[in-house]
Amino acid sequence: MKAAILAVGSELLGTVRLDTNSLAITEAFERHGVELRRKAVVGDSEEDLAAELAGLLSGHQLIVLTGGLGPTSDDITRTAVARALGRGIEIREELVGAIAARFHQMGLEMPAVNRRQAEVIDGATVLTNARGTAPGLRLDAGPTTLFLFPGVPWELDGMIGEYLLPWLAEHLDGDLRETAVLKVACLPESTLEERIAPAYGEFGREAITVLARPGDIEVRASAGGPEAERRERLGAMTRRLDALIGRAVYAHRDTTLEEVVGELLRRAGVTLVTAESCTGGLVAERLTRVPGSSDYFLGAAVTYSNELKMALLGVSPALLGAHGAVSEEVAAAMALGARERLGADYALALTGVAGPGGGTEEKPVGTVHIALASPEGITSHRRLGYPGDRQRIRWLSSQVALEMLRRHLLSTLGTESPGAGTLGEGAPA
Ligand code: AMP
Ligand code: MG
Repeated sequence: MKAAILAVGSELLGTVRLDTNSLAITEAFERHGVELRRKAVVGDSEEDLAAELAGLLSGHQLIVLTGGLGPTSDDITRTAVARALGRGIEIREELVGAIAARFHQMGLEMPAVNRRQAEVIDGATVLTNARGTAPGLRLDAGPTTLFLFPGVPWELDGMIGEYLLPWLAEHLDGDLRETAVLKVACLPESTLEERIAPAYGEFGREAITVLARPGDIEVRASAGGPEAERRERLGAMTRRLDALIGRAVYAHRDTTLEEVVGELLRRAGVTLVTAESCTGGLVAERLTRVPGSSDYFLGAAVTYSNELKMALLGVSPALLGAHGAVSEEVAAAMALGARERLGADYALALTGVAGPGGGTEEKPVGTVHIALASPEGITSHRRLGYPGDRQRIRWLSSQVALEMLRRHLLSTLGTESPGAGTLGEGAPA
């Protein structure tokens, strides 16, 4: 099945909004082996959209449009599609009623402009939108099926799950492709490549994709074919990759490092605080993104100045004078002080030069010291020297700090990473 995607919205042609909806749609296509042949971004112009669509109708059996279903005059998707297909369009009163009811639920009157969202192209099936006011539409035009979906990403995700995936499953049975994901923290991409190289030979290079982001790599293994065979192959690939990569695999699927660390803290029944200088609370921010993190995360001391490192964490002036704020000694003193004064089982401390200024020959930009204090004292220390801009250095520091804690908890608990599945026997650390 050949398919096309049309993202509608003038803002998507500018520099402030990126079309991400087509990626969500593409993911659904990939799962079902649909061949995406073309995608385009079109501004809010009825003429442009009708012309673009007319060009796509022959040669594509499936066209998914997203955006432009809102109530304002720049929302032209419905009328442009009607025009390209030479069909009529009319307002359905029962849909107006449903939209008005949504507004009433929120204690509001429906503005008159929202009537437009009840426009239905002749021959189209209305797709109720559980997450917003704009209903979607599905229609057949000769051999081509068109889906019109809303542009708000959260609403689109709902529509993909409710309508697109079931439709694909019905029309493309047996063709399903599935992907297993392994998430890897703080391993250089080249090291990872070396480790997984044998799997390329065993399963085929095209079956395994590596997506690298700073300090966070996704290894994706995919397989197609009949369900039993596909599942077996995915299982075999996952086990093999786990064994090759080892403990650096922190999760399977879409779990974040802070979720995994949180789950380990919860299982161990211990608490954590952070003491942060160059990261300004980023580690604490990431930890508190996870619902329920108050079970194990107590809080943070953001001690940017030397004065606060002394006053809040009890770092001694002599230590600061002798080694400077960016040093192993001060990171350790921050961690010990935070653990003691804030009353937690564990403390992570970070101090460094995030740049762009402030670097010296001895301590260039990117120098970051991270210390972990546990009930046994300072359990681990890392000195980082990553290149990059301020945000990248801060992000990588938070990533390494969380990974240090994850590794420590894994070894004290003698367990595997939550969500990481089984770790391979004799895997490299
Ligand atoms: P619309 O349905 O065109 O009114 O879009 C509603 C909101 O969703 C706007 O804030 C858009 O910026 C956003 N949006 C629309 N299309 C996309 C897209 N393709 N990718 C990401 N966001 C989008
Ligand atoms: Mg729009």
